[in-house]
Amino acid sequence: MSIQCPACESRQILTLNNGKKIGGTVGAVGGAASGAVGAMSGTTIGAELGGTVGLVAGPVGSVVGSLAGGILGALVGATTGGVTGAKLGEVIDQRVLDNYKCQDCGFTFSDSIHEH
Ligand SMILES: [Zn+2]
Repeated sequence: MSIQCPACESRQILTLNNGKKIGGTVGAVGGAASGAVGAMSGTTIGAELGGTVGLVAGPVGSVVGSLAGGILGALVGATTGGVTGAKLGEVIDQRVLDNYKCQDCGFTFSDSIHEH
């Protein structure tokens, strides 16, 4: 695949992937938040795991276990959310944004130009 600048026909083209970057960050933050909330309310694997391990260790361990579960839930949420967000951003890059920038003349353009 070779991308060519529609303005100056240069082949020195940069891929911006702004949507992918933003999507990944937003997805990770949102995923971490929902993961932590879910773990705290006991609806995720993290909370269950943490709670079970904690119960074995006693009442103090149970609290610590739930907290650990919350953190685990947040991590899992951040990972899945980040991946989902990045995928979504990738689609936005391809469909909506001008994802390519010409290094020679600075012209930005999207993939759709090449879909004749
Ligand atoms: Zn150009």
